[in-house]
Amino acid sequence: MNPLYAAMGTTIFETMSARARATGAINLGQGFPDSGWPQDVLDAAATALLSGSNQYPPMAGLPELRRAIADHYRAHQGVDLDWQAEITVTSGATEALAAAILALVSPGDEVVLFQPLYDAYLPLVLRAGGVPRLVPLRPPHWQFDRAALAAAFTERTRLVILNNPLNPGASLCDRAALDLLAEFVVAHDAVVIADEVWEHVVFDGTAHASVLAVPALRDRSVKIGSAGKIFALTGWKVGWMAAAPELSRALARSHQFLTFTTPPNLQAAVAFGLAKPSDWFEAMRRDFARSRDRLVTGLAAAGYALLPSAGTWFVSIDLAASGITAADTAVADALIDHGVAAIPVSVFYADNPETGTLRLCFAKGDTVLDAAIERLAAAREALTRLENP
Ligand code: PMP
Repeated sequence: MNPLYAAMGTTIFETMSARARATGAINLGQGFPDSGWPQDVLDAAATALLSGSNQYPPMAGLPELRRAIADHYRAHQGVDLDWQAEITVTSGATEALAAAILALVSPGDEVVLFQPLYDAYLPLVLRAGGVPRLVPLRPPHWQFDRAALAAAFTERTRLVILNNPLNPGASLCDRAALDLLAEFVVAHDAVVIADEVWEHVVFDGTAHASVLAVPALRDRSVKIGSAGKIFALTGWKVGWMAAAPELSRALARSHQFLTFTTPPNLQAAVAFGLAKPSDWFEAMRRDFARSRDRLVTGLAAAGYALLPSAGTWFVSIDLAASGITAADTAVADALIDHGVAAIPVSVFYADNPETGTLRLCFAKGDTVLDAAIERLAAAREALTRLENP
């Protein structure tokens, strides 16, 4: 086995979900919703499955989906994309990340990444022979500044991987932060992979700032999106990459030998969904924000302190401010015996430092959230007495 994979364990998401299934714990660990998806998008998929083609679609994606993606970003983010030359449909954002990293990283290239980081980034960068340069982001706001970028960029920097909105930080990188990043990217002639899968799940009237809307980054960025997040259909694995023609040509080379194509019926349904009126997207955001508020209010009443959540399906408990001194991993381990699965934020760091932060997924129905609040309230006293093993 390649030593990178040999040294790797099973991901915590899989482990926690398996333990939740085995013990009957409420699973607020892995990020998947239990409601909130549009029935008409499912109907469109069913119709396409039964009456459309089930053979290989074009490698870059169905023309109707690529057109829909371009129209969608024009309407929602003011970004103009040439659907034929600048959009590649992938099997989820995960494949897009792999395709982009494999296409753009050569051995020895330095890649700037921000920690906490989504778990797929580092193994892919290392497998491609890249040299990671990690920029730490700190709670409660998880933002980078000029000094942090200056310390990370060198003359060997080729690529930056940015996740915005950020999972697990639930924070947004605003236009000013993107402009600052652009200064360094342009000065080092680097390329950005922007994982924007959470672009529509932003709350409290804030707007997502895309790298493609920043003129200096427009032609040196690969923007990654995912229908799984936009439509709360995480199992669908329909994603895409949007990038200037020259970059898109490089991306197509790696995409062709990863998956080549993505199920055409799901692509047709996503094309239908992306054309929904903006009301649908606003209602979706309102519903998830309401779930966030329900969990936050309930946990605050039970004595927990929570970090802000400006987007994504996640909110984190600030353990120290909640009177809990044990390590985040020890707390997650103990909490599952109290009936709730959560993810310790230290797993989103290369060296797993203690973060004092526990991530919860609030994309659940009210009764599930209320039951989780009750169990967390009952567990708090025991958690405050917990000692590190
Ligand atoms: N990037 C981020 C930041 C994510 O949170 C996720 C899903 N949890 C993905 C990528 C993967 O998306 P997909 O399911 O479309 O592969």
